Amino acid sequence: MKKDSKVVLKDSNNPYESMLARFDVAAKIIKLDEATHNVLKVPSKQVTVSLPVYMDDGTTKVFEGYRIIHSTILGPSKGGIRYSTLVDVDEVKALAAWMTWKCAIADIPYGGAKGGITCDPSKMSVGELERLTRAYTIAMSDVFGENKDVPAPDMNTGPREMAWIVDTYSKIKREYIPGVVTGKPLHLGGSLGRTEATGRGVMIAAMEAMKKLKMNPSKTKAAVQGFGNVGSYAAHFFVEQGIKVIGISDAWGAYYNPKGIDIAKAIAHSETHGKRLTGLKNVEKITNEELLELNVDLLAPCAMENQITHKNVHKLKAKLIVEGANGPTTADADAILQDKGILVIPDILANGGGVTVSYFEWVQNRNGYYWSLEDVIKRADDSMIKAFANCWGDATKYKTTMRIGAYIFALNKVANAIKSRGHF
Ligand code: GLU
Repeated sequence: MKKDSKVVLKDSNNPYESMLARFDVAAKIIKLDEATHNVLKVPSKQVTVSLPVYMDDGTTKVFEGYRIIHSTILGPSKGGIRYSTLVDVDEVKALAAWMTWKCAIADIPYGGAKGGITCDPSKMSVGELERLTRAYTIAMSDVFGENKDVPAPDMNTGPREMAWIVDTYSKIKREYIPGVVTGKPLHLGGSLGRTEATGRGVMIAAMEAMKKLKMNPSKTKAAVQGFGNVGSYAAHFFVEQGIKVIGISDAWGAYYNPKGIDIAKAIAHSETHGKRLTGLKNVEKITNEELLELNVDLLAPCAMENQITHKNVHKLKAKLIVEGANGPTTADADAILQDKGILVIPDILANGGGVTVSYFEWVQNRNGYYWSLEDVIKRADDSMIKAFANCWGDATKYKTTMRIGAYIFALNKVANAIKSRGHF
C-alpha cells in the first residue's frame, strides 16, 4: 500500500476540514478537473432558520436550525436531522457532504444533505420537542420534498420526530406525502428493517473486512463506542456472528467485561433506564479513552465525530476499525492508522446501511407496496457487500487506503454525472 500524503489541519476538530482533506487526496489521485473540484468542495445550498418556540415555563426560546444540501447531482438530496448542542454550520456541512459520498457508494439515486437544530433534547419536554420539530418543518417546507430533499433521523431524532415532520409537511401540502421523510414509524409508511439497518450494515462491513484479514469471528474481541441506534444494533449483530463484545459505552459512561458483555441485557437495561447504560450489572466502569484503547481486534466507533485523533491514535490496539458514526476519525489520524497497519472501513461505506433502507422505504412509499423483512434484509446485505467490493476494488487499483478508495469511488461517480449534466 502506497503511503497517502500526511494531512495537516488548521483545526483538526473541524469536521468540514477533515472531509475536505480526504476529498483533496482522492481528487489528486484521480486528477479531478478543477471545475468539478470547485463544484463539489462547497455545498450547493445552505439554509439557516430561527425558530421561536413556546417553552413549558411560559418563556419563548429562539433556536437555530439548518438544512444544508451538498449535492443533488445524482438525485434528491438525502440525509438526517440532528438535535444536539454541538450542531453548527461546519458540522452540518461536513455531514451533508458525507451523505453525497455515502449515497454514491451505496449506489442509490440520491444526493447528500443534512439538517440540524442546536438544542439540548435531554432538557426538553416532549411537547417542546414537538413544537420545535413542527416549527422547523414549516420553516423548511420549501426545501423538503419527496423529489427534492428527503430528511431522516440522525443523532437524537427517530421515528417520533419523523412522524411530526410527515404530519406537518402533509398538512401544509394538503395531501399525505409519506415519501417526504424516511425513518417513519411502521404504521405511517415506515419500512421493516429501517431501525436496525445502520447497525446491521456495520456488521456486514465488519464481516467483509474480517474475511480479507482472515479473522475468525468466534476468536474476535470487539469494543463498540456509542449505544444509540447504531452502536446497540451493531453490538447485537456482532454477538449474533459469534464476536465477543467486551466493551461498550454511551454518552454517560463506558463499561468493560473481559468475558464478554451480555448485549441483549444491555439493550433491555438501556430501554428501561431512559436510554442509559448507567447501573448495568456484571461490568466494570472504565473511561471513554480506556474503551477506545482496549485490547480488542475490532473497534466500532458508533457515537460521533472526532473520537480517534492524532492524540490517541498511537494507543489503539485494534486491527480493524469499522466506523458506524460519521466522521469518528480526524483526517490527521489517517496517516498514523495507515502506518500502524490498522484497516479502517470508513464511515461513508460502513454506515451506509441506514440510508440504503431509507431508500427502500422511499421506494415502498412511492409504490404503495410494502416489502417483507426478509426482502429488505437480503437487498440491504447484498448492497453493502457490493459497496464494500467496489471500495476495496478502488483502494487496490489506486494502491491506497479503504477510506481514500471509498472517496475515489464516490467522486468518480458524482464527477461523471456532473460532466454529463453540465452547467449553464
Ligand atoms: N442519518 C443517517 C446517516 O447519517 C441516515 C440518513 C438517511 O437515512 O437519510 O446516514
